[in-house]
Amino acid sequence: MHDGVLPKRKGILFVISGPSGVGKGTLKDTLLKQQIDIQYSVSATTRPPRPGEVHGEHYFFLSKDTFCQLVEQGEFLEWALVYDHYYGTPRSFVLENLQKGQDVLLEIDIQGARQIRHQFPEGVFIFIAPPDVQELARRLRKRGKDSIEAIEKRLSSYAEEMAQLQHYDYLVVNDRVEAAAEKLVAIMVAERCRVTRL
Ligand code: 5GP
Repeated sequence: MHDGVLPKRKGILFVISGPSGVGKGTLKDTLLKQQIDIQYSVSATTRPPRPGEVHGEHYFFLSKDTFCQLVEQGEFLEWALVYDHYYGTPRSFVLENLQKGQDVLLEIDIQGARQIRHQFPEGVFIFIAPPDVQELARRLRKRGKDSIEAIEKRLSSYAEEMAQLQHYDYLVVNDRVEAAAEKLVAIMVAERCRVTRL
């Protein structure tokens, strides 16, 4: 109950995850172009930047030594080895924004989402799935960023990753990126209206 003045709610942590190559990155970029008032948490990684990627905008590109040092200092909420490179979510950015009442978006792999689920059971976990495995294979080849061996490795993890769906709150099939982004916006709007968030 409240005295007529609605209390300020805490920020909501939205996590989008799913198999590699499903288009999470593009979907996140499409989502962030909409007026949705959310802070995207830029991850740290030890992988080298791809052409056009900017330090601090796409990732914080770190050496392995620096990354390991930050792990030891407890600077990551979660971290994982994803296909030969380390990735981690900076702790303070996420906690400070949630505390201020600002919603935060993470786009991370399934191992990372599992770790976040334990720490933030009240977060909103959205599983992004490809229309089917053939489509996933086609996308991985089309983006041309990975070797044939890397693509085979990713596809073999696919079934295992799909089995994680049961731990999520929502499923969004990424058949068309605009349609999938619209569904994400709908989920965000609905979650913000939940009485239990007050
Ligand atoms: P890419 O290198 O292609 O941008 O991302 C590779 C994978 O790493 C994707 O599945 C992406 O979701 C995941 N990823 C990106 N940032 C993080 C992070 O901070 N933590 C974890 N666990 N995975 C991440």
